Amino acid sequence: MSAHTFIDQYIGGKWIPSASPETLDVRNPATEEVLAVVPAGGAADVDAAVAAARSAARAWGAGDKAQRLAPLERLVAGLAAAQEEIAETVTAELGCPIGFATSVQAALPLGVANNYLGILAGYEFEERVGHSTVYHEPVGVVAAITPWNYPLHQIVAKVIPALAAGCVVVLKPAEDTPLTARLFARLVDEAGFPPGVFNLVIGTGTAAGAALAAHPDVDAVSFTGSTAVGRLIAEQAGRGIKRVTLELGGKSASVVLPGADLAKAVNVTVANVFANSGQTCSAWTRLLVPEEQYAEALAIAAEAAAKYVPADPARPETRVGPLVNAKQLDRVRGYINDAIAEGARVVVGGPQPPAGLATGFYVSPTILADVTTDMAVAREEIFGPVLCVMSFDDAEDALRIANATDYGLAGAVWAADDAEAAAFARRMDTGQVDINGGRFNLAAPFGGYKSSGVGRELGRHGLEEYLQTKSLQFRA
Ligand code: NAD
Repeated sequence: MSAHTFIDQYIGGKWIPSASPETLDVRNPATEEVLAVVPAGGAADVDAAVAAARSAARAWGAGDKAQRLAPLERLVAGLAAAQEEIAETVTAELGCPIGFATSVQAALPLGVANNYLGILAGYEFEERVGHSTVYHEPVGVVAAITPWNYPLHQIVAKVIPALAAGCVVVLKPAEDTPLTARLFARLVDEAGFPPGVFNLVIGTGTAAGAALAAHPDVDAVSFTGSTAVGRLIAEQAGRGIKRVTLELGGKSASVVLPGADLAKAVNVTVANVFANSGQTCSAWTRLLVPEEQYAEALAIAAEAAAKYVPADPARPETRVGPLVNAKQLDRVRGYINDAIAEGARVVVGGPQPPAGLATGFYVSPTILADVTTDMAVAREEIFGPVLCVMSFDDAEDALRIANATDYGLAGAVWAADDAEAAAFARRMDTGQVDINGGRFNLAAPFGGYKSSGVGRELGRHGLEEYLQTKSLQFRA
């Protein structure tokens, strides 16, 4: 593919030239080649996009849900028709294996968007509370700032419920994956929304992102990304008295209690961590097993890991591709080296690049043993295919270790029966727990405890992030 230069942003229902002459290179992480050049938009583009959104806000928000459902249905149909193009685009700019890009990166957001059609159709925006009528009204202009790891899912999980709620949106996607965002904007355009209801500004976080988050005419900010940037955004939102939703990092635990199916638990955990090259905020990056089963768990994990050989993500049989960029590669290797220096033992992988891949941001999928709660790898988000295996004495010890992190996004519990696993999960300080291999539910609220975030995405809870209530009192 030869590098195409784009100079436009999607503002006010049109593709218009960016106000910024600066550009960003979009690189294929597997080949390191420049795929495309996109504008590095800044404050002027953000001002234009927010103004376009504001001018569309009242009419869009005042319309009834049938008026919103019609273009949303056309958008969902567009997402369905573009599945192959979405998967290929995500593979090209993220390096995600094409199989996973098809089954998750393209299919999950379609499922999420579809689910919101049903929620919108059934949602009551008006209710009676005693002598009051309570209206659920849109918050207004929403700034959506998204990361690169699940580029379309993160966009859909914000933009679709915001539009369904009657809000208008300015999206600032991650600079590593703007082509997926452009594709989404094209589908919005084809679906025929009123101009200004959805706007896209591509640019860096420090220029476009910061200008958008701090913009006085933005009513709510929905951010997914690092905890460090999330904190900045929350501070700005606090000063502006803006609604804020934060989906941040994670350091989730997969806890295997005595009596559980050890082989299944370990195999599923390895697959969970290595998927998408470990670049998943909810990944179960700490595997906790009983001391007496530690050696057996490591042997099962090593055997499972052997199936994850880094390779060209465009090949259908590839299970693990490169990391997104050189910075992430340095960061992940740095964590592996630090862990070794702190006394962790490499069971599989390590800091050395995988054999035979001189080009591309590839890291060796790694399993670390003898990890303790004081090590950085046990506490901090690595965002790479690195699993830390830890042992515990009894269930209380397991709970102490599971909760020994500032994060609390997800987790898994494996036990002899669901009731025992659920009782343990209720004591974990985390927002989502999968019980004995229970599957991801795109309609269930998703979000963090502690430093993993504020607010929830997905399902009805995700819609309500974009609503505010107004109560009218009538004479009884
Ligand atoms: P990031 O927080 O730097 O970027 C996320 C988004 O925020 C991007 O669109 C970026 O341009 C924007 N941004 C950056 N600085 C900003 C600022 N000052 N104001 C407003 N917007 C700003 O995250 P990253 O560099 O893409 O990834 C770094 C780490 O973030 C990862 O290693 C991982 O720990 C975490 N992360 C978490 C998730 C998640 O889903 N929770 C997703 C991606 C990354």
